[in-house]
This record gives sequence, structure tokens and C-alpha cells, in this order.
Amino acid sequence: MKRSIYLDHHATTPVDLKVLEVMLPYFSEKFGNASSRHHVFGDDANEAVATAREQVASLIGAQKEEIIFTSGATESNNLALKGLASLNPNKNGIVTVATEHKAVLDVCTSLEKQGFEITILPVNRDGRVSPEAVSKAITPDVVGVSVMAANNEIGAINPIEEIGKVCKEKEVIFHCDAAQGAGKIPIDVEKMNIDMLSISGHKMYGPKGVGALFVRGHRPRVRLRAQIDGGGHERGMRSGTLNVPGIVGLGKACEIAKKEMKKEGKRLTELRDYLLKSLQEKIPEILANGGMEHRLPGNLSIIIKGVDSEALLFKLKQEGIALSSGAACSTNKIEPSYVLQAIGISNDDIYSAIRFGLGKGNQKSDLDFSISVVKSFCHQIRKISTF
Ligand SMILES: *Cc1c(COP(=O)(O)O)cnc(C)c1O
Repeated sequence: MKRSIYLDHHATTPVDLKVLEVMLPYFSEKFGNASSRHHVFGDDANEAVATAREQVASLIGAQKEEIIFTSGATESNNLALKGLASLNPNKNGIVTVATEHKAVLDVCTSLEKQGFEITILPVNRDGRVSPEAVSKAITPDVVGVSVMAANNEIGAINPIEEIGKVCKEKEVIFHCDAAQGAGKIPIDVEKMNIDMLSISGHKMYGPKGVGALFVRGHRPRVRLRAQIDGGGHERGMRSGTLNVPGIVGLGKACEIAKKEMKKEGKRLTELRDYLLKSLQEKIPEILANGGMEHRLPGNLSIIIKGVDSEALLFKLKQEGIALSSGAACSTNKIEPSYVLQAIGISNDDIYSAIRFGLGKGNQKSDLDFSISVVKSFCHQIRKISTF
């Protein structure tokens, strides 16, 4: 049988079978609309959504009333930033970071076109933004700061608690895109003074097309303008019939992540460190992108000097191994990653970058096989190139 090894867990994760199991009844026998008030079908759906709301809130130390269900982190980021901007007409500054996901950066670009002033902060070689830089950027005109918990390419974990403290002191709203961080690293919106937080189901072994936005209810109470109007669901913040099976799945995924985070994080960190060590022992000139200290457990982004990553990924694909490069295809051009550029990697090297995203299903044997394929490819390439 042909092998299939998935090492791209930052792109998406499979739905945990325990998550799938609790979702299934909500497609068929418990298909009710969570807003239906007059029959048991509606009651069942409504109760399931309430449970999920508690599960999501519990993962991040929030209250259940502070959770708004959305279609994913992209929508959560849009609601957070556009919603905040459009209710604060007398302040027009937003501070964010060069390595943010497009779902934050492109929202900021869109706000910039409407007259907002966007400050984009740099990161250090480890891929982290400094709390001092955030503090300096907060002028009296700034309404909000958006900094991701963990980066999707290089796994860099930002100093969220310190940034939260700065934002609290300066009385600006702190939004955090935690699509990669939630369920992988401890996040506590109280301890970290986070005012809004975006979560995505499919990055944490839940289903695609569902996510959440935490919106702080007190000290301060964050006010947003809804971006989707209609029936007034989610306290008017996000209209549209609730995706009950998806929400049930997201809730269960949060419950499981809370329980397993510590142990699985340790396991993935060990596997990841083993992967880097083995690659560096077997193949000359391999560099890790970003720092190893503040990094998501399952993340490893590397450069293999002089090796074209697209060719390598094609070889890996033929062997049944799935991972990503440091470049993104936009329409028909391959653009070098702006995240790798932001940590000071040259464009030449970026074309030699690959990203491993380890997850629950991966074992050491998956890595050993992948390492052997990378090794044989690199030896072959380097023999025939001038490198
Ligand atoms: C995947 C991802 C998103 C987008 O999440 P969706 O739920 O797919 O919309 C946003 N931010 C980060 C950091 C991500 O990794």
C-alpha cells in the first residue's frame, strides 16, 4: 500500500474522530435550528450550542457570553478589526505586525483605504515583535493593536502577556489572532489582558468553516459593529442561522485540546527537535528559520541551502509525504514568503525553505521516512548542481 504522511498541520488538521462522533447527530436526527423556540428540535440544538460555547470559553479563560461563533478565523479577524474601527470614528490608528496572517493584514489594507492609519511593526530574527515596539507605536490616535499568538509559517510565539499589559496600560483594545495558538499553547484572556481573540476549528482538529471570536464583556466592555446583519443571532454581532454541527465540533475540539495540550505539546516538541537534529546530522547546510525557544511544538521551518523547495516538495509528494514550502502561489506567480522576508531571510534562501507542521497522527517512523527521502533528494541535487 502506498504511504501517506501528513506533515502540513498548519494548513489544516483532520477532524478528531471523537469530534466527528459528537457532530454526527446534529446533521440528521437533531437537525433543529438553534433559534427555534417552540419545539424540542430547537431546544436540542440550542443546548448543544450552549455546551459548545462553554467549552470554547473554558479553553481560553473566557465567559460563555463572550464567545461569538463565526465561519472561521478569517471572519473573526474581519469582525474584530472592522467592527472595532467602524465604531470608533474619532480614533483612526491600528497597530499590527509584518508577520500576521493575510486575514489580518488584508483587513488592515482595506481599512487603510477607508482612511485608517496602519502601523506595521517589524519582528526580530526569531520572528517575534517586541512589547516595547508595540508600546512606542501606541499614539493617542490608536484604537487597537492586533498581534497573533503564534505564526503559521515559522511557529514563532509572540510575547502576548507583555503586549496585553502594554495595551491595558495605554487603554487600547488588544486583538489576538490565535488560529495557530489556541489549543496548542496556554492562552488565558484574563491573565494576558486580551480583549478579542480569533479561533479556527480546522486548525485544532475540529471542522472547517467554523470559528469563534472572543469579545471581552467587561473591563473594558468591547463594542463592535456587526459585519453581517440579519436575524440578530449571536447577540446581533453575527447574524445567520448557526452552524450547529460545526459549533458542536469546535466545542468538542476545544475540550479535547484543553485536556491533551500539555502532553501532546511535549510529544510534538520532542519529535520536532529530533527531526531538526536528524536532518542536520544527515544533510549539510540546513538552517532553522526563527528561534527554537518560543515556538509552536509541532513547527519546523528550515532552509536547505541550494535546494529548490518546489522540486523537493514534488519528490516528497511522489513518495506520499505532504508538506509546504516557504512560498505561496498567488494566481500564477510563486511569491517568496513575506514572513521569511520579515525575519531577514534572503529571497534566494526562501526558495529553499520548507515547513514541517507535525500533529497528532505523526509518529517517529513518519519522520524517519521523510528524512530519508529529503536526504536522498538533496544528495542527488547537490551532486549535479554547482553547489
Ligand atoms: C488559518 C489561519 C487563519 C484563517 O483561518 P480560517 O479559519 O481558515 O479562516 C487566520 N490566521 C492564522 C494565523 C491562520 O493560521
